[in-house]
Amino acid sequence: MINWKKKNQEEVLEEKEAYGVPYLTFSLLNLLPMVKHAFSTRLGGVSRGEFASMNFITARGDTQEAVNANYEIMSKVLETPREQMVAAYQMHTTNVRKVGQEDAGKGIVYPRDYRDVDGLITNVPGLMLVTFYADCIPLYLVDVKNKAIGLSHAGWRGTVNNMAKNTIKAMQEAYDTKPENLFVAIGPGICSDCYEVNEELADEFKKIFPDNYQRIVQYNSKGNYFLDLCEANAQQFLDLAVPKSQIALSNICTCCNAKYLFSHRASAGKRGNMAAFLSLTI
Ligand SMILES: [Zn+2]
Repeated sequence: MINWKKKNQEEVLEEKEAYGVPYLTFSLLNLLPMVKHAFSTRLGGVSRGEFASMNFITARGDTQEAVNANYEIMSKVLETPREQMVAAYQMHTTNVRKVGQEDAGKGIVYPRDYRDVDGLITNVPGLMLVTFYADCIPLYLVDVKNKAIGLSHAGWRGTVNNMAKNTIKAMQEAYDTKPENLFVAIGPGICSDCYEVNEELADEFKKIFPDNYQRIVQYNSKGNYFLDLCEANAQQFLDLAVPKSQIALSNICTCCNAKYLFSHRASAGKRGNMAAFLSLTI
């Protein structure tokens, strides 16, 4: 078991392990037999150096062989063939793509025929959605009534542009999803202690959250500003009428746990990418 540095001792996340490979899961989503999900750590893969060891992206210089091998390991761990996974093409926007069986394997074993997609939704059982992280915030959405899922990437840009709302809207249009039927897990990502931002960005968040910014924009005695992206996303889900009891907020920070998780900030950009995984089982 990893000695995680946690924000609080609540049982939000559960570490699991298969074939000696640890990964994180949300207790809230583990209660739902209709989904399988995971958030990878740095451990258990074959990549070397700054990508050590479980990296899922070649864009920063890791080899295709290592990334393929890492997918193969996670595919065994999650009992889902790589050919049944489909990857986002993240550009820090809020475009959400509905994917089906015809998209299986795209971005993992086949090239993608789309780009600029930070969120994926589906209602096809067995098709596993995959998105990538190194401090930004994963958003897992499960519509327990209409059996549909969404997995979206939200950094500060995605949060400013309300990725939570865009993902729900896409699920509403495609699957008639209603916020009251959604179970949502937010994180793991960078915490407010680690995420110092400039005044301009802090002001932007104050404008977006006029009634709640005290929990989202914080500052220290030196007047430096800090953002809580997990809280910001949680507030956006609450504003859209997702019940509070159906929202789980990660208490593990990528930057505070940089030995076990890739953190863009902790590594000054020398890092690989973790992946979030979500699929419907039935
Ligand atoms: Zn932190």
